[in-house]
Amino acid sequence: MGTQHTLDCDLLVIGSGAGGLSAAVTAAHLGLKVIVAEKDPQYGGTTAWSGGWMWVPRNPLAIEAGITEDAEKPLSYLRHELGDRFDETRARAFLDNGPRMVEFFRRKTALQFIDGNAIPDFHGHTPYAATGGRSVCAAPFDGRRLGERLHDLKTPLEETTLWGMGIASGAELRHFLNALHQAASFWYVTKKVLRHWRDLLVHRRGTQLVNGNALVAALARSLLDRGGQILVNSPATRLLKDEGRVTGAVLHTPQGPVRVQARRGVLLACGGFPHDEQRKRQLLPHAPTGKEHWSAGSRGNTGDGLRLGESGGGVVANDLVQAAALAPVSLVPRANPGSEGSVAHFPHLIERAKPGLIAVTARGERFTNEANSYHDFMQSLLAATPSGQTPEAWLLCDHDFIRCYGLGAVKPAPMPLTPWLGKGYLKRGDTLAELARACGIDAQCLQATVQHYNAMCAQGNDKDFGKGGTPYNRIQGDAIRATARGLPNPCMGPVERGPFYAVKVVVGSLGTFAGLRVNTQAQVLDARGQAIAGLYAGGNDMNSMMGGHYPAGGITLGPAMTFGFIAAHHMAGIDPAHSHLI
Ligand SMILES: Cc1cc2nc3c(=O)[nH]c(=O)nc-3n(C[C@H](O)[C@H](O)[C@H](O)COP(=O)(O)OP(=O)(O)OC[C@H]3O[C@@H](n4cnc5c(N)ncnc54)[C@H](O)[C@@H]3O)c2cc1C
Repeated sequence: MGTQHTLDCDLLVIGSGAGGLSAAVTAAHLGLKVIVAEKDPQYGGTTAWSGGWMWVPRNPLAIEAGITEDAEKPLSYLRHELGDRFDETRARAFLDNGPRMVEFFRRKTALQFIDGNAIPDFHGHTPYAATGGRSVCAAPFDGRRLGERLHDLKTPLEETTLWGMGIASGAELRHFLNALHQAASFWYVTKKVLRHWRDLLVHRRGTQLVNGNALVAALARSLLDRGGQILVNSPATRLLKDEGRVTGAVLHTPQGPVRVQARRGVLLACGGFPHDEQRKRQLLPHAPTGKEHWSAGSRGNTGDGLRLGESGGGVVANDLVQAAALAPVSLVPRANPGSEGSVAHFPHLIERAKPGLIAVTARGERFTNEANSYHDFMQSLLAATPSGQTPEAWLLCDHDFIRCYGLGAVKPAPMPLTPWLGKGYLKRGDTLAELARACGIDAQCLQATVQHYNAMCAQGNDKDFGKGGTPYNRIQGDAIRATARGLPNPCMGPVERGPFYAVKVVVGSLGTFAGLRVNTQAQVLDARGQAIAGLYAGGNDMNSMMGGHYPAGGITLGPAMTFGFIAAHHMAGIDPAHSHLI
């Protein structure tokens, strides 16, 4: 391809996560010619590493299970949660179109869903919080259906897998945690692992795709089925404009620069700014040099979409309550540094609520309800950190806990602990005092904290932070094991039998919230609030409709999928309320 090489399409999508692919698949079904440009050698972005959960109140799977609610209920929940950041017009656009989006994908495409009918919103004490029925997850997907394109699908974040095999949240994860205790779980796991090893021999990677990996795979399959193209190794570097309208972009492909003309629009979906030091410095107060934020987001997400949007006249919002979806992250040294770096950023999403773990600062004190959402956990840590000090904490447990649930990247029994101790990732002490010394924690205070905590476990009443006090806390706990041990609170168990273990967590995120200001059609707005013709934003390049709040799991992928669906309809000139796709 020479420098004059051009391609043409109706929609050019820049970035291949959920934000981009949702719009791409919808547009292709509406008859538009679609090109997706991806910077990395593999498509999928952070979405391919994610849990694949989407917050979509009043979705068809919930309704079929008899969970019905008026749109005013989730709307009121958002109103209470978001306070002065609540934007009713955007919230209504999302709530009206979310169920349509799910209906379209499950009826017309390769993407199928499993329900989240038992998954509560994060804040059970907020009025109109639901105890279930407001989310869906991508159903498992057989990667072999992608044929050759399986090989440029991003693999799951290695440290969250077992030998590269993703583990679905919910029932499947429970089987893995119970594999040494229940015959049914043992056989389930054995079958899965054997099939995975066979896949590695035959396909050089796993094909039993779950969670976000299944979401991307199903979206990619659906796009390819409709003649859409996905170009990898093709970063967009510049927007093309004509008299105030965005008309395409320049891609840097392995064959050289290509001008892509897009008749209906360009959608920016480059995954926000989790690895853009300059933007982090501006928008994240805890990262004064831009380095003190270790996002678990895909490393290719370096803020390109926001810069491209600004070059087209767009504006990045700087007034969110929190500019990123915070999460505690531990830094995992890698034996074989790949394109994703020599240190993995492991997000702690699963073990914090299980009975027998506490989180302490270097002072040896607890600072929060460990079973709260990752975002709330980090907000508490930031609040507990004296100014000028680095926000960091230790997740701490005893031997029984770590063998039962693992700790961060450390897997439960029968996987060995030794390699993690050798790398210094995992700290151990035969006594609490010894562990405190290994971590640099105040030993006396830690012993007092653990003694006080253990005493509260018998009653199951966390007088200090209310652990186990919400449906979300409790579902993240382990009611079965807690009951078997006579513990009344599924999130609280004593830390009592040495050796003791700890892993350090620092400030990270699952992605970023602050993005380009948009209207209800996902069109990027200029400084005067006018829509820029031909320019749309999706996923985390679009300013989060939650205003920096985090009311429920799935509040990035739910809106990402929904506004992608809306944007495609807008480009096709069709009102989604009357779409023939549903
Ligand atoms: C472990 C983990 C679990 C998570 N679980 C959930 C969950 O269950 N539910 C939920 O809602 N959220 C979850 N999240 C957050 C969620 O995954 C992200 O917010 C979401 O995937 C972002 O989607 P996106 O489309 O904006 O970006 P991405 O999926 O990151 O895709 C962006 C793509 O753009 C590409 N790109 C960047 N620059 C360019 C360029 N110049 N040209 C072309 N391409 C470019 C990137 O390489 C990347 O592939 C999770 C995150 C993590 C890390």
